[in-house]
Amino acid sequence: MVKTRFAPSPSGYLHIGGVRTALYAWLYARNQGGEFLLRIENTHIQRSSQESIDSITEGLEWLGLNHDGEVIEQKDRFDIYQKKANQLIEEGKAYESEGAIRLKSDCLSSIVISDQVFGDVEVKSDELDDFIIMRSNGAPTYHLAVVIDDHESGITHVMRGDDHLKNSARHIQLMEAFEYPKPQFVHLPMILGPDGARLSKRHGAMNVLHYRDEGFSSEALLNYLVRLGWSKGDQEIFSIKEMIDGFDLSGINKASAKFDIEKLRWVNQQHLLNTNDNELKLMIEARSQIAKDQEDEIMTNFIKAYKNRAHTINDLVFSYDSLFSDEINYDEASAEKFLKEEIILPLEDVVDVLKESNWNQESISEALKSVCEKHKIGFGKIGQPIRIAVTGGTQSPSIDQTLILLNQATVVDRIEAAIEYIKGN
Ligand code: GLU
Repeated sequence: MVKTRFAPSPSGYLHIGGVRTALYAWLYARNQGGEFLLRIENTHIQRSSQESIDSITEGLEWLGLNHDGEVIEQKDRFDIYQKKANQLIEEGKAYESEGAIRLKSDCLSSIVISDQVFGDVEVKSDELDDFIIMRSNGAPTYHLAVVIDDHESGITHVMRGDDHLKNSARHIQLMEAFEYPKPQFVHLPMILGPDGARLSKRHGAMNVLHYRDEGFSSEALLNYLVRLGWSKGDQEIFSIKEMIDGFDLSGINKASAKFDIEKLRWVNQQHLLNTNDNELKLMIEARSQIAKDQEDEIMTNFIKAYKNRAHTINDLVFSYDSLFSDEINYDEASAEKFLKEEIILPLEDVVDVLKESNWNQESISEALKSVCEKHKIGFGKIGQPIRIAVTGGTQSPSIDQTLILLNQATVVDRIEAAIEYIKGN
């Protein structure tokens, strides 16, 4: 049975690179009907924190990357590592120097890692010294702990970033010393920032929970990440089930991929478009302070009008709040650009015709056209000022579609307030 694992060191939060590694290991296990384990690599007590473990766990839970069995914590296994290190000393395969235990590297020429992504990778013996497996303070090094734990958990596929390739050569030496069978190695290409340097905090390799808070869905984030280093034909949009069914090791690319926030926003938009309106309604209600008591018909019309303009659920909530809150906050730059004196007279006429109109899309549209004709101006001249008056900004669906979401008196009040605003400036 296929067994994979995700083995984060809890010295920070779960970032994009970590999620991608976890995702591939999870997908492969699920695709193969195998198991996916979670192991916390906290042998370095000072660098590890419970806060970090909690944050990593919360991230994985949000993403739905559920693990099988109990979480393994390396800090609980120090006795086992000590025993295994002693065994190597007794067998003459390791020795103590200055209190630390080192593996005797008896490699004469090179070690070849047979990797599922990179093929055969050779590491020369001069890069393989007698490395430390146990520190003088009794803590195992990463190498010792990872090899023992992967073996004892029955891991069949070791999946991790390609920055660990050289470590794998050391691990192979340890596996040979312990006479352990070797797992398959699957090293994943790095994720780079837009400038080509390894993805780091300054590129936005921040806490994955940040993306949740910014209104991305976990499915869309995983969809974006699955394509960052793996492909199946030219399919871009995947549901979780499609990812599980389609995932294979042969689709993993060797080349590193660049993190691109605009593409992530696009992928999220596609998932938003595939989300049914009722679910969107619940999501908006959960996030907006003022959406709870909205009439169903208005909510449905709002979603219809705004859905395909939003990239994230936060965009939708922002639009909702801008439209339905009692207080309109003008976007400064837009107000400066469009709320000008020359538009006062047309806007006063807009108020008059809207007051008279039967409140439906067609009559709103007709009324506004009549004002444009009277003043011999294009629709654009009053469109943006009305948008700003009513929503605070310039981003909204067609004017009639937007206005009809509100009641007549509210719209009239807001346009009158905009006229006062211009006069006061
Ligand atoms: N704790 C290591 C890391 O976070 C794990 C590497 C591995 O999967 O073996 O990079």
